[in-house]
Amino acid sequence: MTEFEIIRTYFATQPVQRADVRVGIGDDAAVVQAPPSMETVITTDILVAGVHFSENVDPADLGHKALAVNLSDLAAMGAAPAWFLLDLTLPKADEAWLNGFAGGLHELAQVYQVQLIGGDTSVGPLNVAVTAVGLVPQGKCMRRDGARPGDLIYVTGTLGDATLVLAARRGEHGISVNDVAAVRQRLDRPDPRVAEGVGLRDLASSAIDISDGLVADLGHVLEASKVGARVNLGAIPVSPTYRAHMRKIGLDYALAGGDDYELCVTVRSANAMRVEALALASGFSLTRIGEITTGDNLEILDSMGRAYQSRLKGYEHFTRR
Ligand code: ADP
Ligand code: MG
Repeated sequence: MTEFEIIRTYFATQPVQRADVRVGIGDDAAVVQAPPSMETVITTDILVAGVHFSENVDPADLGHKALAVNLSDLAAMGAAPAWFLLDLTLPKADEAWLNGFAGGLHELAQVYQVQLIGGDTSVGPLNVAVTAVGLVPQGKCMRRDGARPGDLIYVTGTLGDATLVLAARRGEHGISVNDVAAVRQRLDRPDPRVAEGVGLRDLASSAIDISDGLVADLGHVLEASKVGARVNLGAIPVSPTYRAHMRKIGLDYALAGGDDYELCVTVRSANAMRVEALALASGFSLTRIGEITTGDNLEILDSMGRAYQSRLKGYEHFTRR
């Protein structure tokens, strides 16, 4: 297969056709028409074999994840996804692999009606980079620097499952892959919280997506907003599967694992009722985990008010600076 046959077969024929795409795949560049009332939000993420995924990953999972991680970034800004580009380097033109990869990619693109409008394809070590573009009404995007003391902190979904699956695959803590089968998708096919991001943008004071673990990502919000936070350990949302392994792993993966792709948002306390009503009405899973404080520390406290002690080596201190 030549480069052009690959593009024609797997990428030019794609299921999403948006009316706002003037020129899609096939010309020197794509042309899109954003509504005049909207701002354009742009993000990119690269996935490198051996670093972000293993060479023998299911290609459909990889196609899904390459797009999902970008849609998660758009969601954290409150943007509705519209278009994306795909840069691919492949060691060889393996048709079964390409078919799986394109299938996973297009399936997720269809869910969110985000159209593939271009990219680049080259021979090389396996690498996948997606650039995604979304739309948000003028001045309405959520940023990391808007948290203020007294704001409440919420997270979507549950935390730590992706890291739990990874640990099971590595044979750690005597946890088998079968034990965590119920949450396998959390690592392999994360669901970007697109509806949550768009829904919360009018009520949140700040937002970030949790890709490097709650502690690290909430830390970015605290730094950008020049504030601290107090998080209640008992409020950290975890899945039933995670809970079943808590005696071995504690809350370390939920606090400091990665690949969660949930959102962490802060909300003025006056908006708490509205946010919780919205979550209920929209079917969003949203859990209040703490509040923003003055100062610059992230305190994680148990029900007795004691600082969290990690069960695993390397995560002893969660205090910043
Ligand atoms: P150019 O030589 O101008 O860089 P290419 O030959 O690389 O053009 O690409 C031809 C067309 O196919 C362009 O519209 C480009 O955006 C698109 N394209 C190339 N690779 C991909 C890909 N992996 N996914 C989607 N579109 C692609
Ligand atoms: Mg090119």
